[in-house]
Amino acid sequence: MKQGIPKQIKLFKFAFRSLIFSQTYKVKDLPRIRDLVSNQDSTVDVKLSFNLEYGRIPCIKGEIKLDLALTCQRCLDEVKLHLEPKFQLAFVQNEQQGEELDSSFEMILSTEDEFSTIEFITDEVLISIPMTPMHGYECVSYQNTQLINKQKRENPFAILEQLKTTKE
Ligand SMILES: [Zn+2]
Repeated sequence: MKQGIPKQIKLFKFAFRSLIFSQTYKVKDLPRIRDLVSNQDSTVDVKLSFNLEYGRIPCIKGEIKLDLALTCQRCLDEVKLHLEPKFQLAFVQNEQQGEELDSSFEMILSTEDEFSTIEFITDEVLISIPMTPMHGYECVSYQNTQLINKQKRENPFAILEQLKTTKE
């Protein structure tokens, strides 16, 4: 049976019971991400399933679906990205334990048994965001002049600011 995701992940307990959760969040619920994007009210669908491998290694298999409106690093306009990070994590106590698992698992060396769900989801989303988000087309070649004009208009004091700093 599917149920909403608790605020705290209790790793061993959830894995022991093979629990499956799903929940829809908003982008603004994700700390560290909400300030990077302009689509705060967009939905974030999360599915997490827990299980114990070999009866003792807790694992989380997850799938997140979301859209993020980020700033294009080429033209500085908005760029919408659809992200679907999927992950299969095994929480091992030591490296030897990890050697028993097959390579489809990403190993997390951790002794922490309880952690914040929203921080965990945020981490997985952050990893999936490209380092330099950009439009899939040559956005800057024809927007170059437009962009410079726009910047001047939005920032009328930039020039004054420059003059001030040169005087000092
Ligand atoms: Zn662009």
